[in-house]
Amino acid sequence: MNDDCIFCKIAIGEIPTDFLYENERLMVFRDINPHAPVHLLIVPKKHIRSVNDLTEADHEILSELIMVAKEMAKAESVSESGYRLFFNVERGGGQVIFHLHLHLIGGWKK
Ligand code: AMP
Ligand code: ZN
Repeated sequence: MNDDCIFCKIAIGEIPTDFLYENERLMVFRDINPHAPVHLLIVPKKHIRSVNDLTEADHEILSELIMVAKEMAKAESVSESGYRLFFNVERGGGQVIFHLHLHLIGGWKK
């Protein structure tokens, strides 16, 4: 938990947010400023600053983020049409919130 971190506050319920999916380790919610018809964030509850801060201990959560993203794509009906999964890393990579999160975007018109 990082006191100044918006996603940590979402994780503990301090900022009320609708979760599309949640378990003990991660949460999924819609991006507040979507860049595509479907724009979800898949976020570990543990505070990890960025991809640069991942350690050996994070192997499991990292693979779970991707596995959950795959299931969320199915639930949002974009599996077949296709989608993008990405991490923005540090300021130059477009990262604005310094708590690891995986973007899932898709649902563009054919
Ligand atoms: P990034 O640029 O990779 O750090 O992405 C941060 C994303 O978080 C942006 O796309 C924001 O629109 C999104 N965001 C910021 N605050 C919230 C919030 N309270 N609920 C949902 N999404 C948020
Ligand atoms: Zn955090």
